[in-house]
Amino acid sequence: MLVLKFGGTSVGNTEAFAQTAQIVARARQQDPQVVVVTSAMSGVTNTLIKAARAAADGHEHPYREARSDLLLKHQLVAGQLIEDGVERAAYGRLIDERLRSFERLCHSIFVLGELTARGLDVVSGLGERMSAPLLAAVLRANGIDAEWVDAAEIIVTDDNFGGATPLLEPTCAHANARLRPLLEQGKVPVVTGFVGATVDGIATTLGRGGSDYSAAIIGSCLGADEVQIWTDVNGILTADPRIVPEAQTLPELSYTEAAELAYFGAKVLHPKTILPAIEASIPIRVANTFNPDGPSTLVVSEATSDGSVKAITAIRNLTLINVEGRGMIGVPGIAARTFKAVAEVGANVLMISQSSSEQSICFAVPEADSPAVVEALEQELARELSRHFIDRVRAMHDIVIIAVVGAGMRGTPGIAGRLFSALGEAGINVIALAQGSSEVNISLVVKESDVEEAVRRIHAAFFGS
Ligand code: ADP
Ligand code: ASP
Ligand code: MG
Repeated sequence: MLVLKFGGTSVGNTEAFAQTAQIVARARQQDPQVVVVTSAMSGVTNTLIKAARAAADGHEHPYREARSDLLLKHQLVAGQLIEDGVERAAYGRLIDERLRSFERLCHSIFVLGELTARGLDVVSGLGERMSAPLLAAVLRANGIDAEWVDAAEIIVTDDNFGGATPLLEPTCAHANARLRPLLEQGKVPVVTGFVGATVDGIATTLGRGGSDYSAAIIGSCLGADEVQIWTDVNGILTADPRIVPEAQTLPELSYTEAAELAYFGAKVLHPKTILPAIEASIPIRVANTFNPDGPSTLVVSEATSDGSVKAITAIRNLTLINVEGRGMIGVPGIAARTFKAVAEVGANVLMISQSSSEQSICFAVPEADSPAVVEALEQELARELSRHFIDRVRAMHDIVIIAVVGAGMRGTPGIAGRLFSALGEAGINVIALAQGSSEVNISLVVKESDVEEAVRRIHAAFFGS
């Protein structure tokens, strides 16, 4: 069995839908059992979220305009690819109903003047609920017996709206109960990515870019032979091609390497995608919808490694928090209290670095969490601050982490040296640095304004330009 996930650009317009239908048809020749997971059409999730936010701020115009734009966008594809009048009319009714409910929701948000995380999940999940029925209809128009399935019937999550965690046991039970019968009837289920529901049936989402994760969850529940992530680039590359145009496809990556890359900002895979795949040992293939016979990447448990560094990524919109002061030297427990306070505000720490003199600890958190983190630390360390054992808690904004990833770095001397000369020659200042004990990753912090140049320089140092 194969699980094929199509990202936003793979269902971005008429040509993309047609291309996607061909890929599904080919997959079925390879394996009669195929499950499709789809994202919203590209740009749609952003449009929905923007309109809902504007409604909360008192603006009605954006959601009215979004409604007609979204109708046009979907109807255009339906009109061009669904020949059967009955099918087309059925989709017309569905999209109309969805957009009506979108407008009603936005109207309530407008009246209340408030948008809750729970409300936002209902709105942002509508995109997949418009694209999956459309893709199923397009597949049927191509002679593939497809049926769309709402993942709210399959993926059971907690109620952490905006980034919910799936509960694996009920999810797998539902995946098998809902999808196996369809597969046995020779049908292709087309499941909405990104969305789920709580045990009580309240709509949730898995976080932005979460359709990759949906596919991996479903693939692992069904024991798929492969999960295929179909996107708009030739697999996972040595760097983001938007920054480094000459970046090359990595034919093979280990789960650990792919997880590090995804965690440190390689948007091509949602960071949680690898987890379900590891547990079920399912290979993940990343391939290009618009170049299906071109290079692609296979992510497996043990990957061959011909070089030391495999790829370079960057994660943006971070703040570096510094806790510093001579009073920290040899005083046990400051680090523990620091990270306890950070955990209590629910902030995600992406990297930690401590100077060997013990005069400072610094760590990176998402920009959005930084005010809460600073406040929590000032409270937790109030006594030390008032006695000047700790000089200050300092937030440095507009920073990024660049991660250099590759399992072969383990035991290869000189990597850090090459890295620093590459940046030094370009006059780029490294603010902080950390290397995991696994040696799969070296991360460094630089200013946001240096990120692209830094990634290009490091890429050139390891892969040539
Ligand atoms: P989809 O909509 O198919 O899920 P995304 O936009 O989420 O696609 O992810 C694909 C994008 O990820 C690419 O267009 C590319 O710009 C970006 N990207 C970032 N880092 C990498 C990398 N190392 N390899 C490939 N793509 C990358
Ligand atoms: N449509 C969702 C998003 O834009 C999920 C995804 O594309 O994976 O975040
Ligand atoms: Mg994506």
